[in-house]
Amino acid sequence: MDIETDLVVIGGGMAGLVAGSVAAEAGLDVVLLRKGHGATAQSSGAIDIIGYVPGATAYLMNPVEGLHALSAMCPFHPYSALGRSQEGVPSDPGRVVSRVHSSVQWLKDKSSGSCGALKGDLEENIQAVSLLGTSKPTCLIQETMWNDTPPSHDSVILFAGLRGLPDFNPSSAVKAFMANRPYGEEGPRKAVSCILDVSSSGKPFNLSQIEIAQFVDHDAGLSALANSIGGQVLKTGADYVAVPPILGVERARENRRQLEEMTGATVFELTAFPPSVPGLRLQTSLEAVFRKADGRLLAGHEATEVRQAGDLVQVIAARAPRRTIEIRSTAVVLASGKFLAGGLVGDERGVRESLMGLPIVDSDLIPTGDSRPQRLTGVIPLSPEGHPLFGVGLAFDSSFHPVAADGSPIAQNLFAAGSVLAGYNYAVEKSGLGVALATGFAAGANAAAYVKGVQ
Ligand SMILES: Cc1cc2nc3c(=O)[nH]c(=O)nc-3n(C[C@H](O)[C@H](O)[C@H](O)COP(=O)(O)OP(=O)(O)OC[C@H]3O[C@@H](n4cnc5c(N)ncnc54)[C@H](O)[C@@H]3O)c2cc1C
Repeated sequence: MDIETDLVVIGGGMAGLVAGSVAAEAGLDVVLLRKGHGATAQSSGAIDIIGYVPGATAYLMNPVEGLHALSAMCPFHPYSALGRSQEGVPSDPGRVVSRVHSSVQWLKDKSSGSCGALKGDLEENIQAVSLLGTSKPTCLIQETMWNDTPPSHDSVILFAGLRGLPDFNPSSAVKAFMANRPYGEEGPRKAVSCILDVSSSGKPFNLSQIEIAQFVDHDAGLSALANSIGGQVLKTGADYVAVPPILGVERARENRRQLEEMTGATVFELTAFPPSVPGLRLQTSLEAVFRKADGRLLAGHEATEVRQAGDLVQVIAARAPRRTIEIRSTAVVLASGKFLAGGLVGDERGVRESLMGLPIVDSDLIPTGDSRPQRLTGVIPLSPEGHPLFGVGLAFDSSFHPVAADGSPIAQNLFAAGSVLAGYNYAVEKSGLGVALATGFAAGANAAAYVKGVQ
């Protein structure tokens, strides 16, 4: 055997890194296998807990209310599982809120490094403004996307695009922003747009946000951006400057501070689409938390087989470009994500869990194996419930064991977390990183308790 350990975590997104960190902090030796980046690194980096509940037409101001509603309306939702002390009892909404709150507080306490502090709390959703000038409800945002004082009614906000960056049209964003007024009627009296010139990066067209952010991490890039913003602030009288998320991959927080000092305006980042700088910052910040807890991260290692004896999983085989390894582990957390990360695969034969062939159900816990794949892959025009494919995943019990059709755990020492789980549609609800955080937190703690119990 190449490695003997207490816990193997399969997957290095939000769910796996949180589960691994929590278990390592509890004293376990943890090995995390990550074949690549999944949805966490592609996300906007804004952590949604819950933005909409089924049937509601308006977004939720208060995620706590959303968690209460979900635990009553959606018994199979991963958040609802957090509210059950044992199988078969109804979910207790107070317990759901308390456990989600613990995971949010844990993450806020740990966050630093590339994504800085996380702002926001469970009692009130933030309206994060996007590159489109629209807004979406989210719970936690990185500090470079946050304004301590939202734009007041006598202020001017400048939407600043960058020459060579095709992802952002600031004049369209201004129109949507003024129509949408995410800061309410008290928001800024005027919104204007401009294009900044930081073309000294040497490649004046088809730039990506990541390329610009990397350039801004260097002194030359930061001063080019500061000069350009400074000129526009003088010209427009802007108090606030909204930019795409390009304030830096490594040093965003410090870069923002310097930009504000040099220009006299409040500078903040809009939420954006993949490839996402804040998503990358969140990913590296979570990896730093895991390493700080003495977790062993094996990047570029794909789990290829999990061997089970009786009701225990025992050996995990993994391959990397230059080696294959076998790991004997007391417990395993499967946090391999959904379709983008490869935890689930879908084709003409239907949807499968890619590593162990675990049973897959839809969001009503109906096994998908028997249904025709077209039911899950067909076109559904603008359904308010979203596409059923998003709700597909592993069935699980209140300890986050994946379960078989009869509800019994697949293995006593196997836990699952994050988007590989069934029962929720993150795209419609706005709950993606929140479910990954809360279930990763629970699965990591359950795995730690299991390992300590058998040692
Ligand atoms: C484009 C996009 C934008 C989004 N934006 C937001 C947003 O703004 N806010 C929000 O809250 N949510 C957002 N979401 C949803 C959110 O990103 C996901 O729900 C969440 O990141 C899932 O985390 P996870 O850890 O479960 O999975 P992932 O982050 O996908 O991680 C899965 C990990 O498993 C690894 N893996 C898979 N199979 C194996 C294997 N066999 N061996 C080793 N490793 C393996 C992958 O390489 C990856 O590291 C977005 C999703 C997408 C796709």
